[in-house]
Amino acid sequence: MTKFNELNLNPKVLKAIEEAGYETPTPIQEGAIPPALEGKDVLGIAQTGTGKTASFTLPMITLLARGRARARMPRSLVLCPTRELAAQVAENFDTYAKNVKLTKALLIGGVSFKEQDALIDRGVDVLIATPGRLLDHFERGKLLLTGVQIMVVDEADRMLDMGFIPDIERIFSLTPFTRQTLFFSATMAPEIERITDTFLSAPTRIEVARQATASETIEQSVVMFKGGRRDREASAKRQVLRSLIDSEGEKCTNAIIFCNRKTDVDICAKSLKKYGYDAAAIHGDLDQSQRTKTLDGFRDGTLRLLVASDVAARGLDVPSVSHVINFDVPGHPEDYVHRIGRTGRAGREGKAITICSGRDEKALAAIEKLIQKEIPRLDNPVKEEPKPERPKPEKKTRPTEVRPTEAPKRDDKREDRKKDKEVRGRGRRADNGPSVVGMGDHLPSFIALSFDERRTG
Ligand code: AMP
Repeated sequence: MTKFNELNLNPKVLKAIEEAGYETPTPIQEGAIPPALEGKDVLGIAQTGTGKTASFTLPMITLLARGRARARMPRSLVLCPTRELAAQVAENFDTYAKNVKLTKALLIGGVSFKEQDALIDRGVDVLIATPGRLLDHFERGKLLLTGVQIMVVDEADRMLDMGFIPDIERIFSLTPFTRQTLFFSATMAPEIERITDTFLSAPTRIEVARQATASETIEQSVVMFKGGRRDREASAKRQVLRSLIDSEGEKCTNAIIFCNRKTDVDICAKSLKKYGYDAAAIHGDLDQSQRTKTLDGFRDGTLRLLVASDVAARGLDVPSVSHVINFDVPGHPEDYVHRIGRTGRAGREGKAITICSGRDEKALAAIEKLIQKEIPRLDNPVKEEPKPERPKPEKKTRPTEVRPTEAPKRDDKREDRKKDKEVRGRGRRADNGPSVVGMGDHLPSFIALSFDERRTG
């Protein structure tokens, strides 16, 4: 097994790694660090939790350790799909570059331009940004990308989902074509393939196993939820959620609860709070300071339940999350893998429970196909209200010859319907007469006449 000190990293970086407590490089680090240090382009197919952030930050710090940044011309650029992920990459830089003198700036939405401008003006070695904010700075004439020697695209598949690919292409075209590119994506959709074919030059490709196949420490289960009355379905589902949290008791030290829609993230968090649970919401529509405060609270253990959307929780690195609860089954099976990967990290035990309503069964089947195993079913902790019997609409019966003068009583009606059905089953009308063919008994008189009589008559 390769050791960190065999990878040609700067000794000061090695010291920081040791201080972080890492013993051996993960497979993506082992595969990506050597070619990155040789100045080659790298295409890493790996998802969060595999150690991919260090696989690009460690060689970048080593390569950038020599040299100095010029005003408004960053020497390297890391593009991330979300603010949270960008902030996390910045934290990683702080950890691994703590013994090296490097400057960095974080350009994300929700933070004032003024502060960010001041940092860029002084010159930065590493610029970590979301694509939109980076282009805003560029358009305001505050930033030049012609000094970028290393460019990293992180979580490209999520960039694609969020519609950032045109921005990424534009940013690529603003950087020198001699730059080194380190490109990471969990999957290789055709659109991503097109980008890598266009902008990467003979990259070294490293693909690491999906986390789903690796994380055996996560105990997965699913609760099938029938829903009962439609108008009460949402609140009944929240009751299931509360019962699940209660039944896990103290074992649930903290949990991320995923909803598919932002509105449900809000509703769910509010409802949990109303019932006395320690919960807060995080999604893209909340302002940055609120998001940061919520995340910090969850990280330091003062917040127990984080209700989140996929995008906001993407790549979140909180080392010990005891539970992940999917309030909704995710529409993309890959998202299930991302979601449950928030627990059971670094060999710890974790539990992932999914609530599946009838209409989500197809999505659940797709997940089971992807992870190649059946997720054990749990009993619904809440006794489900049986669906009320809807009175069947009365079938229109054809008028019968005898019209009752009085409205039939309920039982009579049922009897009538039953009878009617029996009769229809035999292909007959209810009036029991002989079977009617053509015009029945009523024969027009002209037919009864002979042909000659008709001509002359
Ligand atoms: P990432 O895939 O970059 O989100 O990293 C996932 C987690 O693994 C983070 O908490 C890192 O601190 C941790 N990590 C990264 N590299 C190593 C390593 N070589 N050994 C142990 N933990 C690591």
